[in-house]
Amino acid sequence: MKIFIVGMGYVGLVNAACLAEMGHKVCGADINKEKIDKLERGRCPIYEPGLQEIIEKNLKSGNLTFQIGVDKNINKFDMVMIAVGTPEREMDGRADLFYVGETAREIAKHCVKKELLVVGKSTVPIGTANQIRESLAIYNRKKTKFYVGSNPETLREGKAIYDFMNPDRIIIGGDKKVRDALLKLYEKINAKKIVTNARSAEMIKLASNFMLALRVSATNILAQLCEATGADIEEVMKGVGMDRRIGPHFLRAGIGYGGSCFPKDTKSIKSIAEHYRLDTSLFDSVMKINAEQRRWLCQKVEEMTLFTLKNKKIAVWGLAFKPNTDDIREAPSIDIIKWLTKEGALVSVYDPAANIKKIFGGKIRHCKDKYEAIKDVEILLILTEWEEFREADLARVKKMMLIPKIVDGRNIFDPKAVKKLGFEYTGMGRI
Ligand code: NAD
Repeated sequence: MKIFIVGMGYVGLVNAACLAEMGHKVCGADINKEKIDKLERGRCPIYEPGLQEIIEKNLKSGNLTFQIGVDKNINKFDMVMIAVGTPEREMDGRADLFYVGETAREIAKHCVKKELLVVGKSTVPIGTANQIRESLAIYNRKKTKFYVGSNPETLREGKAIYDFMNPDRIIIGGDKKVRDALLKLYEKINAKKIVTNARSAEMIKLASNFMLALRVSATNILAQLCEATGADIEEVMKGVGMDRRIGPHFLRAGIGYGGSCFPKDTKSIKSIAEHYRLDTSLFDSVMKINAEQRRWLCQKVEEMTLFTLKNKKIAVWGLAFKPNTDDIREAPSIDIIKWLTKEGALVSVYDPAANIKKIFGGKIRHCKDKYEAIKDVEILLILTEWEEFREADLARVKKMMLIPKIVDGRNIFDPKAVKKLGFEYTGMGRI
């Protein structure tokens, strides 16, 4: 099939590359000229394992092309996918549909074909597919028949290529013509396909992210309870997760969820409930507990510090909201480092892929190596559970630090083993 994808962010770009890899002809469009320039030179603008190689290969084969913005080129394609951002609105937490609306208008304006399939991949409030349909009808002057559907994306950053090729399920909603086309598009992917109406498809995506955020917050509140009562959250959740009715996923305690999806989608689903005047207390609790985890870590740092944080050297390992990505959107690290600098600490940071130079500039030291970051510091904070931190040479770490203290926000180390090496150590929900 010939697919035109609007929005070359984490979602659109992975889809463009993977669909091209599957043999489809794909054009990826973005309004960001710098991004398109990079992509046309075969350079991947984001860190996502394996993506660079697929882009290079498919650019060469001609299956994948890129362009700036939406134009009349869309008439050469069977389907347009909308994968633009839907950030939260500051005033009320609702998803901002500005980019989706703009894209729908652009598609309508340039389309002169008899018919076109339009599919929403972005995470959106319920009813957005209908709004897309209305907008397409209003702005199209050539009487194109638009078929509209929803195929929300569920891939995980850091494992996006694997997830695209091996999803748990593919969610397909909307007009029959779109549903049939999507079933054909994904026929080579061996996954369960849930076929439904557009509203349910849109809701499945939001509901899934809320359920996962809920598990994270439930685990974190249990972590607080474990620490207060002398239990170990890691052991507890290992036991809980062995119950097949519950399962082991998303039961890790830490400094809470972040990224571009859970925080935004939880606020979005809450705002929908609010709109219908429904009870929002569960959504509120999930968000409150999540914010509390960051404060809890800061409190632990304070408890470990003698007198004051002012002029104390503190190292941070991990900036991205999770490992294997360079995404720092809503990363807990940002809030925590803001607090540290406000308190007057001298902060040095290291992450294998992410960087926060744009946010903190010269206010903190940005290191190229994990050992460089810990030289002469008094506390090391672990904020992202990258594998290379688990594999760190702790004897070397101890020698390099001024005082060997670790606050492990992701419970990557075994407390007994680290303490035995001579560290003062605290994790999240363990003693
Ligand atoms: P992103 O911000 O990384 O990328 C969005 C891209 O859209 C940007 O490059 C932007 O320049 C481009 N864009 C905006 N308006 C445009 C227009 N009119 N024409 C062309 N390009 C335009 O966003 P993302 O992380 O890829 O997320 C996209 C959507 O997918 C969001 O709704 C998000 O909630 C959802 N989603 C994201 C993930 C994830 O892991 N990041 C997973 C599942 C779903």
